[in-house]
Amino acid sequence: MKNFLAKQRQAGFYSIRFKSSAGRLTNAQLLAIHGLAEKFGAGYIHLTSRQEISIPFVRQENLAEIEKICAANGLEISPAGTIVKMVTACQGNEICPSGIIDSPEIAREIERRHGGRELPNKITCSVTGCPNNCMKVHYNDIGIKGAVDPQFIAENCIYCGGCAKVCRVGAIEVDRQSKTWTINRDKCINCGRCVKICKKDALRGVVGYKIYLAGEILPQFIDNEETVYQIIDTTLNYFAEHAKPRERLSKMFERLGSQDLTQVLLSAKILPK
Ligand code: SF4
Ligand code: SF4
Ligand code: SF4
Repeated sequence: MKNFLAKQRQAGFYSIRFKSSAGRLTNAQLLAIHGLAEKFGAGYIHLTSRQEISIPFVRQENLAEIEKICAANGLEISPAGTIVKMVTACQGNEICPSGIIDSPEIAREIERRHGGRELPNKITCSVTGCPNNCMKVHYNDIGIKGAVDPQFIAENCIYCGGCAKVCRVGAIEVDRQSKTWTINRDKCINCGRCVKICKKDALRGVVGYKIYLAGEILPQFIDNEETVYQIIDTTLNYFAEHAKPRERLSKMFERLGSQDLTQVLLSAKILPK
């Protein structure tokens, strides 16, 4: 049975946490939480690192009534324990001018697939809309980052060098004399700045994703959303099967290496070579 109450230092008191929808709560939900904190808590809330709202100083006997109020207001209580924790996200391309992907919607889909799933230890997962990485996804067990892969269209290029100038990592080289354009994809951080600056339609930006597992970035550029979910599904199934009780994903990789999971992903043709 899932545990919805986290024990406090103070005897007889618990904290209860409410999920947001990838960082978003409606005004009505906020009002409901306000009422809960007034009635059952100590009159304040605490914002957790996982975009949840916590109400401390709740008593166990009030849980049933709190659950009823939550159900009426579309609020979900966050379970404690060794589970997939609430998936966090930045505002993504719906709101943020730098956004490449719809981070909240992707986070909600991961939440629909795996939210609260019981595993050998907790799993944190976060989605960030672009290489600015506001969500610091590499500090999560699983991180997804919006990315742009620049594709060169030679016939449109006038070799002005504008793209090379704006590239912060020096991944592009342009030679006006010999009319050559080259990109070092090992250096490229998939920010898309070069695509934005080119006024000649000589760079097409393919929108996609970069994935981090236990803080390590996979070298592959993922060009479709379904593959992102398949990588996450496979990783979590692998973790469920291979991790020792209470072992974190990073520790499992330290013990077993990450090559075996990579091989599973490659053999299943989920990860491109
Ligand atoms: S990561 Fe990018 S898209 Fe997300 S909030 Fe930061 S700048 Fe905006
Ligand atoms: S900015 Fe566009 S036109 Fe200029 S060198 Fe780069 S790709 Fe070519
Ligand atoms: S996408 Fe960003 S990092 Fe990659 S080549 Fe273009 S400007 Fe440089």
